[in-house]
Amino acid sequence: MSKLFALLKKFALLLALCLAYCLSSAHAAFINGQSYVSLADWAHANGLKCYWLKWGDEIVATNRTTRLVFDKDSRMVEVNGINVALSFPVAADRGTLLVAQLDINTAIRSLLFPPRFNDTKRITTICLDPGHGGKDTGNHTFWHSEKTCTLALALELRDQLQKAGFNVILTRSRDAYVELPDRPALANRRGADLFVSLHFNATETARNEVEGPETYCITPVGASSTNARGEGSDYGPTIANRVEQKSLLLAYQIQKSLVRNLAVEDRGVRRARFAVLRDAAMPAILIEGGYMTHPVEGRKIFSDAYRRQLAQAMVKGILAYRKLASPSVPPSLPATNRPAAKGAGDSSAKFSSDNEK
Ligand SMILES: [Zn+2]
Repeated sequence: MSKLFALLKKFALLLALCLAYCLSSAHAAFINGQSYVSLADWAHANGLKCYWLKWGDEIVATNRTTRLVFDKDSRMVEVNGINVALSFPVAADRGTLLVAQLDINTAIRSLLFPPRFNDTKRITTICLDPGHGGKDTGNHTFWHSEKTCTLALALELRDQLQKAGFNVILTRSRDAYVELPDRPALANRRGADLFVSLHFNATETARNEVEGPETYCITPVGASSTNARGEGSDYGPTIANRVEQKSLLLAYQIQKSLVRNLAVEDRGVRRARFAVLRDAAMPAILIEGGYMTHPVEGRKIFSDAYRRQLAQAMVKGILAYRKLASPSVPPSLPATNRPAAKGAGDSSAKFSSDNEK
């Protein structure tokens, strides 16, 4: 009986906290030129319940199939256990958390309520783009060049995708230099349905700490990239912005598959106006398959066996995307209670600028 009483007391406290939070939330704000809305208001309007995980710092918005975790001042939201970069940090105001309307429109809504894509064409042809090549070696570490690793991964992924029934085009199938604009141009010319650029990452500092894959898709119009170095960011629309919702969904499915199948650190879905993404007319992503500079992950990246596993996870992600992108898409993504991987912050990592790939 006392257990039941304690449980009721906990429930009442939670209810009171939710009510107090929701009552205090009915406001919006304009911060650094961005329109922000109350997370509680948005959650309520979309059938999600919200409560504090850490009072004043971390909010969960959830329903039967979805769990979102927002942190104050953070540019990462956790969507069903996977980190997704926001364009603007979560803000705090008068005891509630606020999120930029642009992020609701271009990140959160697209993942939670994927639009019914009325494509009649099935996804059959995939263009793979092994990063770098020829005179452009990419990252070079532990006596290995990125250009060799990306080509080996692309050839493995090609074989696996062909086994799964896809047609595959490669922007290069040997150690050759290919100009960046020529890569998406080939995909456009050949009518590819998806474009997947493959890279491996490196960092000069914190080599022992920074590890795990990142998956990039095009930056929304009006926002700066996750990897922007401040000045000189171009906020305007690109060809890729026409299909940015699909690219985000593809990036999310690939990142999710990598994190779940390989038990790696989740560095999240990120946004960048990389030259190879900007001009792609089809859903396009760039995968940084892990950090060559990390002593453990690096060694794995240099092995055929691990690259085979990477390719397997990528195929699973592409198949999951194809299922969602078909006209009979379910109303929201399946829920999981997988805890977020730690270390998704990006302060110590080196990021390439948009024009390097
Ligand atoms: Zn690269």
